[in-house]
Amino acid sequence: MPATRMPAAFLGHGDPRNALADNRYTRAWRAFGASLPATPRAVVCVSAHWYVGSTLVTAMERPRTIHDFYGFPQALFDLQYPAPGSPEVAVEVVEALAPRWVGLDHDGWGLDHGTWSVLAHVFPDADVPVVQLSVNAQEGWDEHFDLGVRLAPLREEGVLVLGSGNVVHNLRLVDFSLGEAGADWAVRFNEACGELARTDPATVGTLAHRAEYRRAVPTPDHFLPLAPVCGLAAASGAKLEKVVDGYLAGSLSMAAFRVD
Ligand code: ZN
Repeated sequence: MPATRMPAAFLGHGDPRNALADNRYTRAWRAFGASLPATPRAVVCVSAHWYVGSTLVTAMERPRTIHDFYGFPQALFDLQYPAPGSPEVAVEVVEALAPRWVGLDHDGWGLDHGTWSVLAHVFPDADVPVVQLSVNAQEGWDEHFDLGVRLAPLREEGVLVLGSGNVVHNLRLVDFSLGEAGADWAVRFNEACGELARTDPATVGTLAHRAEYRRAVPTPDHFLPLAPVCGLAAASGAKLEKVVDGYLAGSLSMAAFRVD
């Protein structure tokens, strides 16, 4: 097996329609994929949209494409992302995270739009095996940060670790009249996040003490996929470098970061 150290990334996925869009975010995701030093052996993607009461990893040979949303155009429901799974890499993830219990999911889930809306651009040919890792609703930032610390050695084995969520994600406060502007509080939170990620990824979890936290992170599902990427960076002595940034409808941040 080639032993090229893989980068890692957190990608702010935003609207599911980004799967089919050509905009500066999707172009940044494509550029990230094109910049990799080699084709990864597999992708391990922590998806905001698999927010369940335990840590699970998909372990099927052929994960199905899950359309976990309503009210979007038919073209989005027709989209298939037929990347193979990797039962072998799923087991490597379980072993890397031991003694934490991680369930192998053989038929329950698959690839949801947290994963495929970004991978449709990072690997448009769907030719890299993908395993998806859940966000554990019973656990917080520190435990998800620790996941990244433990997954960091897989970088040396040709595995690309991704987090897919959004730094700021408040659907209740969405205001489409704001277009691509961020609300003041959202900008403050997103910029503070970017600064900590750039300077000391081990401290990103302290954002929970900021005044804007409750509005930026009303539920932890979209924020927590950033934690393993910070943990992986901290374990590697690396920082997060912003690859694209911006806002949608006031209360969503599209910030994406890579770790090299
Ligand atoms: Zn989402």
